Amino acid sequence: MKPLRWLLPMALLTGGPNRLPAFKYEIHNDVITAAFRQAPRAAQVADLDSARSANRNMDLLENDDEKQFQHAMRSRRSRTPEAKLATEQFIQLEMHQALAAARRGDPARAGRHLGRMLHAAQDKKHRWCSCGPGSNPEAADPCSSHPNGCAVEGSGNHNLRDDCGLPLDYLLKPCKSKNFQQCTDAYPLPAQIDQATKESVALLEQFVRQL
Ligand SMILES: [Zn+2]
Repeated sequence: MKPLRWLLPMALLTGGPNRLPAFKYEIHNDVITAAFRQAPRAAQVADLDSARSANRNMDLLENDDEKQFQHAMRSRRSRTPEAKLATEQFIQLEMHQALAAARRGDPARAGRHLGRMLHAAQDKKHRWCSCGPGSNPEAADPCSSHPNGCAVEGSGNHNLRDDCGLPLDYLLKPCKSKNFQQCTDAYPLPAQIDQATKESVALLEQFVRQL
């Protein structure tokens, strides 16, 4: 096995003060935990720990170029409306599967699907930006360096490689930018956390109403 093949997963999993700036699933997990607390009926039929680990796996294992819609981003050569539609369909499918699991009394599976649904919904702050500056024609827009990210859907990039891989730099030094989009979620604004929490609670309430 080539050194980089094991160095990357090791670096992703070990954490600590020099942990990779990318893939801040801990922030997602804090929001998921807060949302479950505010939707206690959902927490009765779906397992929080399963939701948290499904969320983490979305970032660690499902970040290939063609899966960017799961993170409210665009893959190469995908148009913004298509990517948006794919994100919404993903959220609805996960909701549907969570409901089916909860109705047959499977809290682990229900939690897993809710974790995936909430991850994609919380990622809407990415506004369907691209992975790297060369991924799509609008990807090099300098709006990426604004603390809020890009206002225009489909513009900007996440400072990753154009094929969505992690740049080698990320393995060697922490991201210095205080911009959430350039550090792939390392520095969300309080307003972004609030918005993600509100949307997550709303989705869990929708889930409960349909049980
Ligand atoms: Zn994500």
